[in-house]
Amino acid sequence: MAQQTEVLIVGGGIWGLSTAYHLAKSGQKDVLVLERNEEIAVETTPQAAGLVGQIRSSATMLNAIRYALELFSQFPNETGHDTGLRQTGSLMVALTPERMEAYGRQIERSHRNGIEADFVSHAEMARLAPALDVSKVEGGYFVPNDGYVDPQQCARAYAAAARDLGVQIQLNTPVTGFRQRNGEILGVETENGLIESNQLVITAGPWGATLAKKLGATTAAQPIRHQRVRTVASPGIPDHHPAVRVTDVSCYLRPDKDGYLYGFFEPTPVSIDLEAMPSNFRTGDIEPPVKVMAEAQRRLVPTFPILKDLEIAEYRRGMTTFAPDGAYLIGPVPGIDRLYLATGCAALGIAGSAAVGRWLTNWIINGSPGEDLGMFSHQRFGAQAADQDWLRRESEQFYANYYGIRADE
Ligand SMILES: Cc1cc2nc3c(=O)[nH]c(=O)nc-3n(C[C@H](O)[C@H](O)[C@H](O)COP(=O)(O)OP(=O)(O)OC[C@H]3O[C@@H](n4cnc5c(N)ncnc54)[C@H](O)[C@@H]3O)c2cc1C
Repeated sequence: MAQQTEVLIVGGGIWGLSTAYHLAKSGQKDVLVLERNEEIAVETTPQAAGLVGQIRSSATMLNAIRYALELFSQFPNETGHDTGLRQTGSLMVALTPERMEAYGRQIERSHRNGIEADFVSHAEMARLAPALDVSKVEGGYFVPNDGYVDPQQCARAYAAAARDLGVQIQLNTPVTGFRQRNGEILGVETENGLIESNQLVITAGPWGATLAKKLGATTAAQPIRHQRVRTVASPGIPDHHPAVRVTDVSCYLRPDKDGYLYGFFEPTPVSIDLEAMPSNFRTGDIEPPVKVMAEAQRRLVPTFPILKDLEIAEYRRGMTTFAPDGAYLIGPVPGIDRLYLATGCAALGIAGSAAVGRWLTNWIINGSPGEDLGMFSHQRFGAQAADQDWLRRESEQFYANYYGIRADE
């Protein structure tokens, strides 16, 4: 007889694990997570910088990040598992007067939304990030309640808490196909046979859209290479060091393991066509980003001269998945009952993981996410979602301008 479960989650990255935790916490105990690897959270999730920043352009995402900060900070007390949150704030650095104006607008909006955020003096910037050469900087502002997590630790904390509540996580189990009948999902096929489920959630990160295609479903998700590095230890990084974003050069930096972790949004994005890749293609097969990260270093050295002499201790490369408008792709899959797909993390999937898990849980248990999530709908691009050239072009453009100055800021 086939294995059976009430809710089946395909993919044990941070989105699947948060969903499992939220489901179990809401009383849904019969939850099974299937992960193809021999460990959870070893694809996109551990590559992330783990920045959790509240400066967002939509109220939905702002509330999502607020919820993450609340959940991450309370998690150890509530569950006994630590997400690794460091709530040392975000320092937003401007190199140009235009950027300072945009920052001014961001601060005003933040205040309207009840977020603490204010311009800081050059002396305060130097105190917060002593390696920052403030003489090269136009100005900046500080968001004290922002933070960052160790993404893999955070995902494992979700998993541990979910297991404590009865969730099963089955490793080494790639999903190879799906069973559906008359527009209703019945379960998934694996190398070990069929697993039946009443509700199915696909949280397979960059592989989500490819898997959904097996069901005849289309969503507008484009995997794009995204990478970051960690330097060797650098003495003197204070405990209070915030995450720093130097948006004029599309870069960010934060402390990690006594050194600096930094990354950037590549000006010439490199899309990855997962459908053209063998089924055993993994994040680790992407080439180490030596040349590209030299460009990130070149961009950061004028403001952080210390980076010039710090060797790279670790290269991290992965795929972040973008929709053409940079918003998540989350919700029920049209035409197939009791099937949910969540992808398009837009380099914000660690910060959004708490809300994603809660939204999917509400959908599954109550039939609605609990707020209007039309901005994440799989149908929002209509037939254009199937146009691969358009999808790639628009998504790459959004990625390359991630830290661009937007008219609506
Ligand atoms: C360099 C870099 C920096 C980033 N920085 C940040 C940041 O600062 N802040 C932030 O919020 N986000 C950041 N992100 C984005 C963040 O990493 C992602 O949004 C997040 O990890 C997405 O999680 P996921 O669970 O959707 O995907 P994944 O972690 O990729 O998990 C998907 C899982 O599905 C499994 N899977 C796939 N196919 C199958 C199958 N057929 N059967 C079974 N299992 C399957 C995979 O093995 C994998 O474990 C960054 C990403 C990168 C690459």
